[in-house]
Amino acid sequence: MQEFHTEKAQLIMTLRGMGVLDPAVLSALEAVPRELFVPAALRQHAYENASLPIALDQTISQPYVVARMTEALQLTGRERVLEIGCGSGYQAAILTFLCRRVYSMERLKPLLVDAENRLRDLRISNISLRHSDGAKGWPEAAPFDRIILTCGSRKIPDILLQQLKIDGIMVAPEGADGAQQLVVITRRETGFERNILMPVTFVPLIEGC
Ligand code: SAH
Repeated sequence: MQEFHTEKAQLIMTLRGMGVLDPAVLSALEAVPRELFVPAALRQHAYENASLPIALDQTISQPYVVARMTEALQLTGRERVLEIGCGSGYQAAILTFLCRRVYSMERLKPLLVDAENRLRDLRISNISLRHSDGAKGWPEAAPFDRIILTCGSRKIPDILLQQLKIDGIMVAPEGADGAQQLVVITRRETGFERNILMPVTFVPLIEGC
């Protein structure tokens, strides 16, 4: 039997109870072994609905937040998605099940190397990783259908907004430390529509590498 089968089933039930209803998102959460993305010493906690520390003072997001952000991207399977803040690679792995290709950027090289190894072990191949300052985006691969930031900034960098396609969706934490909101931005021909999803706490987006 699959390891952590019961814990995983319980987490999925918890997320459903909290209002995550998109079956494709729940299936992706079921498909990705979160225990492989957390430090070995925390493996027993992998299926708690909690954020956990990873290396270099960073964190892997709470499954509920991963689920809500993923739902908000409204993926159909055809999109090219840019992620800023690869971290453990967990959110990126979830996205690979739901879109065409993920482009994920990380400023801390050791995290990116570990993420790359995990994704390879899981035979996930529809992803490109880059060690670079995500605040500048990925101009060679832009524009993107979707953009997700998993690190928070006071104000979403304009360069990233400009790398979003018309009718594309961005999900990002924004605001001062301690008062961040998850913002969903849809780019229209006429401008950017903004909706606030919920309060969140993310590690900061730090410019430069
Ligand atoms: N999505 C991750 C969560 C990572 S935490 C996961 O599923 O595990 C946020 C990450 O953003 C950290 O690893 C941090 O190093 C990274 N980060 C912060 N500023 C950045 C920047 N300017 N460019 C790229 N990555 C950045």
